[in-house]
Amino acid sequence: MSTTTLPAVHVAAAEQAARRRTFAVISHPDAGKSTLTEALALHARAITEAGAVHGKTGRRSVASDWMEMERSRGISVTSAVLQFAYRDCVLNLLDTPGHADFSEDTYRVLAAVDCAIMLVDAAKGLEEQTRKLFDVCRHRGIPVITFVNKWDRPGRDALELLDEIEREFRLKPTPVTWPVGIAGHLRGLMDVRHPDRMLRYTRAPGGAHAALEETITADQAADQEGADWSQAVEEVELLGADAAVHEADSFLAGRSTPVFFGAAMPNIGVRLLLDAVVDLAPPPAARPLETGGDRPVDAPFSGLVFKVQANMDPSHRDRIAFLRVCSGVFRRGMTVTRAASGKPFSTKYAHSVFGQDRSMVETAYPGDVVGLVNAASLRVGDTLYAERPAEFPGMPTFAPEHFAVVRPVDIGRSKQFRRGIAQLDEEGVVQVLASDLRGEQAPVLAAVGPMQFDVVIHRMEGEFAAPVRLEPLPYRLARLTDASGGEALNRSRIVRGESLVRSRDKAVLALFPDRWQANSFQRAFPDALLEHLIAAH
Ligand code: GDP
Repeated sequence: MSTTTLPAVHVAAAEQAARRRTFAVISHPDAGKSTLTEALALHARAITEAGAVHGKTGRRSVASDWMEMERSRGISVTSAVLQFAYRDCVLNLLDTPGHADFSEDTYRVLAAVDCAIMLVDAAKGLEEQTRKLFDVCRHRGIPVITFVNKWDRPGRDALELLDEIEREFRLKPTPVTWPVGIAGHLRGLMDVRHPDRMLRYTRAPGGAHAALEETITADQAADQEGADWSQAVEEVELLGADAAVHEADSFLAGRSTPVFFGAAMPNIGVRLLLDAVVDLAPPPAARPLETGGDRPVDAPFSGLVFKVQANMDPSHRDRIAFLRVCSGVFRRGMTVTRAASGKPFSTKYAHSVFGQDRSMVETAYPGDVVGLVNAASLRVGDTLYAERPAEFPGMPTFAPEHFAVVRPVDIGRSKQFRRGIAQLDEEGVVQVLASDLRGEQAPVLAAVGPMQFDVVIHRMEGEFAAPVRLEPLPYRLARLTDASGGEALNRSRIVRGESLVRSRDKAVLALFPDRWQANSFQRAFPDALLEHLIAAH
């Protein structure tokens, strides 16, 4: 190796990392995530053919739908990435499942982003899944930009929405744009950094396209918009007095959130949001290692597998591992090492993947996502590296809330059954728990959202030819315990013995029907260990 090539690679990695913004949109279903994704992509230039927005008719084209089940329900079960260029940056927007149901996938995607856009429906305010996802962001230290959507429709008062964010999330909202006109009467936006002018929007005739944007002076705004403008000016002054001003350090530390107002459907305020992603969201940075210290972006290649997906393409029986590049330069064909086993892994089949579309990736930089095909040996949470070893902390498993016993329909296919369940466990589709009481043929499945169970049923039949039957269990809560807890549980009359299970990594879990039972058990057996799992909420 020549001494001059290596530094050049490092410089390229650092320069390219500085241009990357890797983010996800978190929201409650129906808040407008698909609409916003499309609106963002409209302003930007999709880099890969795959992921480009295909015309206006297929609004769902930005959502990835890979499975028959998904198609038939019109929902997105998986997560992929949309990459586009904007200004001098490359933006990676990671898709999170948009269904009302919830899975661990959504949480894992958040392990691969540097920033999140929290989408809030102007009429509904903070909703259940916004809360859950926000908690994960806070737990992982991901800074959050807020977009209050659907301001073109009647909704709540702007200051009241900010109050809600501050009160419930203990997060200081610092508006960057402010609506001129109440929800349902959106005249335009004030950019609080330039209070001497107003951005006015006129809906295009027919309303199909993005609203037209023009800039007018404060005097013109006062003249033409009257009370709407003076109210906006007053409110922004009030905010200034309250020190609700964007400040980079507190935003990056997760203590404040810059807030943008707008309407994704007529594309109002979306450009300013996109500018914020470039100007405010952090680029990829050094990532902490399992062993202490961290891996700077200009170190040799390393990446984290945040998701593994089997059979995305029914015509190819394959398995794709989604890898976020964390440091260095990824080149297709390079041989890297899987940290968990120390074994080499060939990256000959690297793709960028969005839904069903794939294209070959030749080079990728920190912040980019690469799909590795035929990744049978890779697991969620795996680190891959080149040259200098690295291992990132594994993916957290989230506290499950749904439990079911799974059995093969056909006892004759128990080998396929065991193989399939083991694979789904490794992929992280569900958590598979062993119960001494029930034995090998009847493991207990645990999930964050019940749709994870549907995926199991579908894949066990379609992929492993081992149809299964699920029997829901009446538990809603798991606590980490040990032998002491196990003994106590067996003695207690509060819960039955079957509520004691072991996970793949041999952790002993106690299952309870609800928080009250867990608490009363703990009061009855104060010496028994009972620890919270990493709760998603
Ligand atoms: P998702 O479930 O979060 O992906 O939400 P969608 O993008 O599918 O939007 C849900 C509904 O809200 C759709 O009927 C959209 O047309 C509508 N919608 C989204 N954004 C806006 C907006 O800015 N204004 C209005 N009036 N409707 C919107």
